[in-house]
Amino acid sequence: MSKVRLRFAPSPTGPLHIGGLRTALYNYLIAKRLDGSFILRIEDTDQKRFNKNAEKHILDSLLWCKILPDESPISPGKFGPYRQSERKEIYKNYVDKLIDQGKAYYAFDDVEELNLLRKAHEKKGETFIYNWENRKDLKNSISLSDKETKVNLDNENYVIRFNSFQEKSENEFIVFHDEIRGEIKVDLKLLDDKIIFKNDGMPTYHLANVVDDHLMEISHVVRGEEWLPSLALHHLLYEAFNWEKPIFAHLPLILKPTGKGKLSKRDGEKFGIPVYPIEWQENKNLSYLGFREIGFEIDAFVNFISMIGWNPGTEDEIFSLKELVNNFDIKRIIKSGAKYDYEKAKWFNLEHLKRIETESLKVEFSNLILDRIDNFLNTNKINKLIELTKERINFKNDLVDEACHILDYDSNKMKENLSKINLNEDIIKLINFFKNTVGNEIELNNLKEDYFNEMKNLNIKVGDGMKSLRLCLTSQLNGADLFKIIDILNKKTINTRLENSLKIMYDKIRNN
Ligand code: GLU
Repeated sequence: MSKVRLRFAPSPTGPLHIGGLRTALYNYLIAKRLDGSFILRIEDTDQKRFNKNAEKHILDSLLWCKILPDESPISPGKFGPYRQSERKEIYKNYVDKLIDQGKAYYAFDDVEELNLLRKAHEKKGETFIYNWENRKDLKNSISLSDKETKVNLDNENYVIRFNSFQEKSENEFIVFHDEIRGEIKVDLKLLDDKIIFKNDGMPTYHLANVVDDHLMEISHVVRGEEWLPSLALHHLLYEAFNWEKPIFAHLPLILKPTGKGKLSKRDGEKFGIPVYPIEWQENKNLSYLGFREIGFEIDAFVNFISMIGWNPGTEDEIFSLKELVNNFDIKRIIKSGAKYDYEKAKWFNLEHLKRIETESLKVEFSNLILDRIDNFLNTNKINKLIELTKERINFKNDLVDEACHILDYDSNKMKENLSKINLNEDIIKLINFFKNTVGNEIELNNLKEDYFNEMKNLNIKVGDGMKSLRLCLTSQLNGADLFKIIDILNKKTINTRLENSLKIMYDKIRNN
């Protein structure tokens, strides 16, 4: 197989959740790292579980994350169609070949009867497996005469099963390789004769998946761990067709935030965390917010997802999509389940926000900020305000509120917080000193130095002196770097706030 081609092959049975997205992402990263193609194939052979909104959710999610397929149902390449329901004719041909070679057979068993058999086995603590041991006792083209088979076939009520093992076979085991798990050995006698073709004329997942991977010249199959038990069957199918096999890699499970058990779609509600990249409208009255709606940066979200089950082997954690492509290595995907930690997702967002150029945030947000606090701000310093703010928020949408909050002042709050500092005459002297110094157009660094010297002169602890000044200027007791705030506030505001705060302080001292 010369060209590298990887595919993401979701079944459109519901919204794309973060597990599916991670599979898509890893396929994309491996494909791009190796200069190959990334393909989206919609596996919609299960008509019963089909959800008409799912494909759009899958496509929109990939689009939002910029994980763009080179070939897909909406941008087909030369291997189309890219929806299995539109490839129906193709599969029949292949299943017929298997039947002709005795590698598959027709089965006519009544579903109810099989269910009864299953239950009877369960009662005995056993599992019913339709396979080499009992297929001759069941109702199929192996156990029935040609004539009986023909009658049943004419009724058009049959499925086709894969003949996974024959009593006289030389090999009782199959050994294959998984890129993540290494060598795997499976006892063929334990496999069941899976249905590969249904009576609605559609192949099942197994057949369609293998046929399409072959026809679409897929070089690497990278998918969730839940498909590992099917890998032996898939190998047997490749062998039955005499086709070259792709490389296989089965990704670890994503675990619940508690680290116990597989993350399920229901965990979103249970833990109050998003599990979809973008919003999903379940029905008229119920919808779930995605990471997009919560306000995540695309790069941050993709970076977070990339790290659930993979690491670059260095201390580096922050990557853009492009950087992930350059660093991603299938060999560093872990085997064991990886926990979904929403707090970590927020941390990634914060780190990516720091990477955004202040200038671009300024273009996006300066008008909104100015609308609200134009009167406090030294408008030349809006860049500094944005720089200070972006370090302190998890989401970009919080930038305006936080910027306003940093520069906020409220007399009542000031009074309330005043009781929490060690107020005395010297503190008032210190604040007065600051007020006089700041009025003299002094350089910020000098101002800071002078203020610190004065604290020393008055024998005031740095903590007390800083807290008091912060209180007088912002009515808060803690927050962003105070001297940066002083730099950003305009002189008039500083003066008014100091006068107001000093007055409140005098009153308090007098009344004590
Ligand atoms: N349609 C399967 C799924 O939704 C694809 C599994 C595979 O990638 O082979 O999980």
